[in-house]
Amino acid sequence: MLLQDTQLLETLAHFSRERIPERVVHAKAAGARGYFEVTHDISDITDADFLTGIGKKTELLTRISTVGPERGSADTIRDFHGWAIKFKTAEGNNDWVFNNQPVFFVRDPVKFPSLNRSHKRHPVTNAADADMFWDFHVNSPESIHALMFLFSDRGIPASLRNINGYSGHTYKFTKKDGSYHFVKIHILSNLGIKTLTSAEGNSLAGTHPDALTLDLFEAIATGNFPSYNVYIQTLAPSAVPTFPVNIFDMTKVWPHSLAPLRQVGKIVLDKNPENYFSDIEQAAFSPSAMVPGIEPSADPMLQARMFAYPDAQRYRLGVNYQFLPTNAAKSGVYCPTERDGFMNFKTNYGGDPNYVGSKLRPTAFKGAGETNGVANGSVMEANGAKSIPKEDKFSATPVTFTSEVTDDDFVQPRALWEVFGRQEGCQERFVDTVAEHVSQVKRDWLREEIFRKFTPLSSPYTFISCTLCTSVPPFPFPFWGFVLLL
Ligand code: NDP
Repeated sequence: MLLQDTQLLETLAHFSRERIPERVVHAKAAGARGYFEVTHDISDITDADFLTGIGKKTELLTRISTVGPERGSADTIRDFHGWAIKFKTAEGNNDWVFNNQPVFFVRDPVKFPSLNRSHKRHPVTNAADADMFWDFHVNSPESIHALMFLFSDRGIPASLRNINGYSGHTYKFTKKDGSYHFVKIHILSNLGIKTLTSAEGNSLAGTHPDALTLDLFEAIATGNFPSYNVYIQTLAPSAVPTFPVNIFDMTKVWPHSLAPLRQVGKIVLDKNPENYFSDIEQAAFSPSAMVPGIEPSADPMLQARMFAYPDAQRYRLGVNYQFLPTNAAKSGVYCPTERDGFMNFKTNYGGDPNYVGSKLRPTAFKGAGETNGVANGSVMEANGAKSIPKEDKFSATPVTFTSEVTDDDFVQPRALWEVFGRQEGCQERFVDTVAEHVSQVKRDWLREEIFRKFTPLSSPYTFISCTLCTSVPPFPFPFWGFVLLL
């Protein structure tokens, strides 16, 4: 063998370079293609082309992932599932980057990396660490609502065909006449929710670590296409001041009784990826990808994710990630001020001006009179668009409530505790599941604080932290945990 054996050298060199950075969160995923179909008219609240016109179908790409562990990990572990969908609309890409639970652990984006690190590997042992997990959560009491979903029956889906998806964030649906509504989006499985117990999930994680991925693949391959209905909850700006929930707080839902679900359409997944790496691993989703008729709200988590997600993709895939076939918009994109960069495999806009304000080939930003955003009210007005009414301006103001915790944070967890109470054995399974996890905590004082974290659920209910339940060898006391006092 000589150095002139070019094919061998190329093969070896390529092999050494075939990994790209995996996502720091949401690394393990299944993916599919499909379509969205409008089934109900919501043209009274949005001009978004892909959401209007009953019967209209829009091609989509989806990626459903666990959050914490690595790309090679098992998919039946207890974790939230991220559910990203890229709609390839006639007006460009619109991404929904949702979760399978309706609330999130924190509402202050500065906590986002800390939250995720506390769920990952300890810097010394390189193993998951219950002390680290709970140390974060006892110091962020607002996470109790999301923890209840995580440790509930819904914490381990039995199949990706049997999950719901929730925007969590509040968005705005807008119209050219200047009107807008605040909106939360729900995707509900037409097959209903199905879940695994911890024992079932753990067992599958050992024997079939790709169980959910393969279940989705095989269902689609055999023509058993999963479908989900898409709904919205809507709130007029005038209703916000008296609405009992802070609509920019991602740790809260909008109660169904105050904001009923309104159907928009349905999603059908009917095509498997042709190649996992090219279709799904290279897929890049961002909550900042929106089409006219949809806008962000002032939710600080949404605002932060709108920066962090495309930033992560630039790091992971390179600055031209949007040219990759799986990410490329179906509609024409002309953005000659974004040029060059690594792996620019397009024509790079030839000799077109690469600066704004050219009279040689004039371009304009879409906006004047075509969008009704409130983020830059004065700019919008200067551009000729209608500004929002004065009385609504509060709803566009960035919020500063992020880290304060009040009794308000426990109202909805108590409501969820009641939902559990209506399903046989659900409260008991929740307590057992928390106890099983807390049994791995090594520090006594931390266990006490964890018990205290859940006490807001107790009064006037029956959830009491005390002794008994789960044995915890090798720690010094034989039994501890939670018990339900009936
Ligand atoms: P509802 O009784 O109208 O809604 C309760 C909802 O809880 C159901 O519609 C279902 O949502 C969901 N749910 C049912 N069983 C479980 C379970 N075992 N684990 C987790 N979620 C379950 O009351 P509200 O709208 O007033 O909400 C009461 C509480 O329900 C909230 O505080 C929240 O914790 C929880 N919840 C509320 C949702 C909302 O958007 N309002 C969504 C999900 C949960 P789904 O139909 O989406 O499956």
